[in-house]
Amino acid sequence: MTTLADARPLDRLADFPAIPPGWAYLDTAATAQKPRAVIDAITRAYDTTYATVHRGVYQRSADMTLAYEAARRRVAGFIGAASPDECVFVRGATEGINLVAQSWAGTQLKAGDRILLSQLEHHSNIVPWQLIAERVGAAIDVVPLTPDHAIDLDAMAAMLTPAHKLVALAHVSNVTGAVLDARRAADLAHGVGAKLLLDGCQAVPRLSVDVAALDCDFYVFSAHKLYGPTGIGVLWGRGELLAGMPPYQGGGAMIDKVSFAGTTYAPPPARFEAGTPHIVGVLGLHAAIDYVEAIGLGAIHAHESALVTQTREALSSLNSVRLFGPADSAGIVSFMVEGVHPHDVGTILDEGRVAIRAGHHCAQPLMEALGVPATARASFGVYNGPRDVAALVEGIERVTRIFG
Ligand code: PMP
Repeated sequence: MTTLADARPLDRLADFPAIPPGWAYLDTAATAQKPRAVIDAITRAYDTTYATVHRGVYQRSADMTLAYEAARRRVAGFIGAASPDECVFVRGATEGINLVAQSWAGTQLKAGDRILLSQLEHHSNIVPWQLIAERVGAAIDVVPLTPDHAIDLDAMAAMLTPAHKLVALAHVSNVTGAVLDARRAADLAHGVGAKLLLDGCQAVPRLSVDVAALDCDFYVFSAHKLYGPTGIGVLWGRGELLAGMPPYQGGGAMIDKVSFAGTTYAPPPARFEAGTPHIVGVLGLHAAIDYVEAIGLGAIHAHESALVTQTREALSSLNSVRLFGPADSAGIVSFMVEGVHPHDVGTILDEGRVAIRAGHHCAQPLMEALGVPATARASFGVYNGPRDVAALVEGIERVTRIFG
């Protein structure tokens, strides 16, 4: 049995200026705090090297373009993409999924086709598919969950038909922390000729991701959950799929030639990056990848898993606490205190300087499956340690005392 003292010796709290002493930040699944290295990269860019990209003939702009494209190469290496051209900078996972839905599904799907999602998806991996399904006349099927709230791939195997053209699943659930066997999901999807999109928002900050090994077709994530800035994220797509996709938005930088007789488009990734991009955000993402890779995703995963195990063991010893998700969840623990609304749990914890998330976590269909209106959720990052678990457990004990 693990004890609080067993946490891996990975505690990078000192790297994070926005976490004051004594504050247990347990909401990394919503957004990660930023290390000094990322803040410095952003400040340096605005302070000293700032200029536009892909347009200027002057040296400063050429240098910034090199830095911007170096970040794209860094992203490609980080997720195992075959080429940087397969990595499209988007505003975040939400925009990445909408891009695939509108551009790929909007042209590839027709009436009668089917899309397969799971019961635990984030709204951003549900609503874009509903919008496009309605437009093209496709139908959506929903894979149920296992008893411990992971996606049931046996059920998925039984559901898939040749009418399914796309499967879109969370690599790691933002509520239960369940880790998908993504390779098996890819094999199952490909077995009926469907493409697989993975929502990697919660996976990329806590698992080593290699899109080639996963054999998926699209992968999306947001930089802000990976210790990087908000407003920037990545859509990775197989080169041949991106090459066949029409633009998602029109504007500057995504064209080959514009005339009123007809406009032609740049090849990917430029085709999907209309307008002046979030230049400094991209540099911040580069710094964030450098930061997590210097620690090592293996070490991060082991560290968070130890904290999850400690949390689950401590909370399960309290009679009034109901835990959701599998025991080996990645970095995230969702729970209920019997008879207490999660918002009250969150408020009382906040009084003890413990920040958790309480609510439906943008996963209302999952709440329905769990039979609860909301859950309390603690999620970990590289700055957390056993003291945060202890503060959480102490706070929950206080909740149970207050509510009798
Ligand atoms: N999918 C998952 C699993 C998430 O956790 C989130 C963020 N909560 C999103 C998608 C959406 O990410 P963003 O809001 O950064 O676009």
